[in-house]
Amino acid sequence: MLSVEEAQEKIFLQISPMGAEKVPLSSALGRILSEEIVSSLDHPPWDNSAMDGYAVIASDTRGASHATPLRLTVIETIPAGALPQKKIIPGTASKIMTGAPLPAGADAIIKAEDTHPIGQEVEIYAEGDADFIRRRGEVMQKGNLILKKGVRIRPYEVAILASLGLSEIAVFKRPQVAILSTGNELCDLCEPKGPHQIYNSNSYGLMAQVVEVGGIPIPLGIAKDTRSDLITKLEAASEADFILISGGVSVGDYDFVKEVFSEKGKGGGMAFWRIAMKPGKPLAFGLVFGKPTWGLPGNPVSAMVTFDQCVRPALLVAQGALNRFLPVVQAELMENIQKEAGRRHYIRARLYIQGGRYCVAPTGDQDSANLLSFVEANAYIVIPEGEVQVKAGSQVNVQIIGAIGQDQGLSP
Ligand code: AMP
Ligand code: MG
Repeated sequence: MLSVEEAQEKIFLQISPMGAEKVPLSSALGRILSEEIVSSLDHPPWDNSAMDGYAVIASDTRGASHATPLRLTVIETIPAGALPQKKIIPGTASKIMTGAPLPAGADAIIKAEDTHPIGQEVEIYAEGDADFIRRRGEVMQKGNLILKKGVRIRPYEVAILASLGLSEIAVFKRPQVAILSTGNELCDLCEPKGPHQIYNSNSYGLMAQVVEVGGIPIPLGIAKDTRSDLITKLEAASEADFILISGGVSVGDYDFVKEVFSEKGKGGGMAFWRIAMKPGKPLAFGLVFGKPTWGLPGNPVSAMVTFDQCVRPALLVAQGALNRFLPVVQAELMENIQKEAGRRHYIRARLYIQGGRYCVAPTGDQDSANLLSFVEANAYIVIPEGEVQVKAGSQVNVQIIGAIGQDQGLSP
């Protein structure tokens, strides 16, 4: 059986990068930059005040304090958004607002709290401070590399891009991912559920995972466990960039998904079937209609875990993302874990901080049919193939899948 890394490498070989497109900045959140961003301007564009106060000549203000106040003549007020009209000469000051350009002649600011206006004059109780001047180009200069290609755009990058005046951003296209669930027992949410049926949860979970990683899901509904229905329903995937099929990939009498790779693989066929992970062993991957296609195990937890480990990284590679893997930290394991040797385990878990350290505890029953192991889970504990027992108190590798909170005293 392949290791997870070997499987990932075989998958990456089949992934070509999506093309680029321009999107309005207001729609760029979550997208991945397809070109590096170089500043076209200096920011700030001029020396300006970091404080509401007075622009002064520093040497004019030497020795000023509450005990020994000094007076200067105020020659103008400079609001943000105006250009100064007058030059500061010895004995004068201009009232200035935060962000307003520094007037000629001034080389320091006195903050408003250290002053008191008296008619056309101002009494000052502190020396002028050059640190309250924000210098031209201090944040960025024309020609500086600001953001690398492959960066995911967060709200912070949106603000940075706006500060550069960019209203359109070049990003990688979102991959279109067809999702087909298989199983005679499945009932869609809009249908009345028969006594022999369960709801199709995989299609919805996988659609959400696709959206979260930047893709566009194309739901293809449910295929019956027949070769012909599987093939017919899959035809609708021919426009997609990637295909996910859930269920029917194991060794049951009605598990036909593996045959789809040979029938529709256009010679590419199935690259592998089965990997050394739990949950998720029966994962299949190959080409269908020439497109990278995953046969995900039907068990609901297995489908989602194999997505996180083997589909998510590929969709990120396709989008040119710099970071393709889940972030990993080391944490103290809070309970003993036992497993069989042979496969790598991905244990749904709660990662939290206690006493300044990362701690992690499984979220209960780890059966691959029990989706409730994801309730309160924000991490996977990764237990290597060869391990059979990991004792509480050991350090373990943990992949982060959600926000980390402080310990709230909840039992894991
Ligand atoms: P399979 O891989 O088709 O043998 O399915 C394994 C288990 O997962 C069975 O108990 C199925 O009923 C269940 N299952 C398969 N597909 C889905 C789905 N789309 N939604 C919920 N459960 C599923
Ligand atoms: Mg099935």
